[in-house]
Amino acid sequence: MTQTRPRTKIGLAAAPRTITLLGATGSIGSSTADLLRRDPGRYRVEAVTAHRNGAALARLARELGARFAAVADPESYAELKAELSGSRIEAGAGPEALVEAAQRPAEWVMAAITGAASLKPTLAAAERGATVALANKECLVCAGALFMRRAAAAGATVLPVDSEHNAIFQALSAGRREDVRRIVLTASGGPFRTLSLDAIRKVTLEQALKHPIWSMGPKITIDSATLMNKGLELIEARHLFDLAPEELDVVVHAQSVIHGLVEFRDGSVIAQLGSPDMRIPIAHCLAHPARMPTPAQRLDLARIATLTFEEPDPVRFPALRIARHALAAGGAAPTVLNAANEVAVAEFVGGRLGFTGIAALVEATLDAAERSGSMAEPQSVEQAVTIDHNSRRLAAQLLPEIAAMAS
Ligand code: NAD
Ligand code: MG
Repeated sequence: MTQTRPRTKIGLAAAPRTITLLGATGSIGSSTADLLRRDPGRYRVEAVTAHRNGAALARLARELGARFAAVADPESYAELKAELSGSRIEAGAGPEALVEAAQRPAEWVMAAITGAASLKPTLAAAERGATVALANKECLVCAGALFMRRAAAAGATVLPVDSEHNAIFQALSAGRREDVRRIVLTASGGPFRTLSLDAIRKVTLEQALKHPIWSMGPKITIDSATLMNKGLELIEARHLFDLAPEELDVVVHAQSVIHGLVEFRDGSVIAQLGSPDMRIPIAHCLAHPARMPTPAQRLDLARIATLTFEEPDPVRFPALRIARHALAAGGAAPTVLNAANEVAVAEFVGGRLGFTGIAALVEATLDAAERSGSMAEPQSVEQAVTIDHNSRRLAAQLLPEIAAMAS
């Protein structure tokens, strides 16, 4: 006789009902909306936000039945308002409206705004004790200790969405924290993994935007090409899991099937595997602590056949080395690193800086900041924002020289 496992409803009944999507129109926002659409009865959407695209946000707000929609850019308010006319959806604009969206009563908040711009709204959600599904890594790089401290004080639950960190989060449940020897984040290696340094110097924006495995927003796609993304992720992991720099490792794994590994002190290594589809880690956070079905392709290891691993190359990909330096230095260094990188990526996307100039500008900014004085860790959001602004200004000053050198 075959025994069918009883289908428990306990976990699913505990799944969140009210949802807010910060960065709703982006890649992660869209993947989250896709999961919500598949079971609309289970969720009620409180608020959605976007940067500029008022029309797209209004469409999404109507479709998901949100109560509040906010654009970061005040110039997009008129478009949002017009597109929402005839609905009962409230509209807001500007940085305060993003914070309001995060403060409105939703049990589960997807933090998927790109960059340090995410810090205030994400913190606002954490500070009212919400469950924060954290996709944005820049806010932890900018002000990680502060963020985690405030989230813990408010009794918030922070669930990692970033695939590697979600993998580590899952693998950590196999043992006790004190038995962890190290964790390993996998990196796809990006589109330039096999190129020579000479060839990397000549890559175009179009090539950098073509990630071999993941389909993502432009900022993280460029970060993946430089490997800065993995550097930011080391700092993200340091804060999420309270690990020391020497407990954090990276291995290049081109197939992106294994997302992260935890090594315990008995030599056991526990890994999480899955198709490279962000709907898997998002669903893990959405149903947590239960599991829900997703449309992601099921893993077929026999078809994949080969999994490869290699050391990251610090010569061709200096960004990872620079991020490691910031991680070890601590204090304000990660805040400076993140701000300089945001500037460098924007300049590369704007055609004003070559690809290898990205890491060069970040390193030059970090060097200059370290030489110029205090690198104390930000103790408040205001301090973090000030360091962020000053670093952006410094990077902008250094830009012409670096752009000329790296062209
Ligand atoms: P994206 O560019 O596709 O979307 C970003 C979203 O944030 C959009 O809704 C955009 O309108 C909004 N936004 C951008 N700048 C803003 C600003 N200054 N103020 C307010 N809103 C702003 O990016 P994405 O790929 O969805 O990534 C979002 C975050 O998730 C990033 O921090 C990224 O590192 C992280 N992440 C993404 C992936 C992925 O697969 N896409 C994986 C892991 C982590
Ligand atoms: Mg990742």
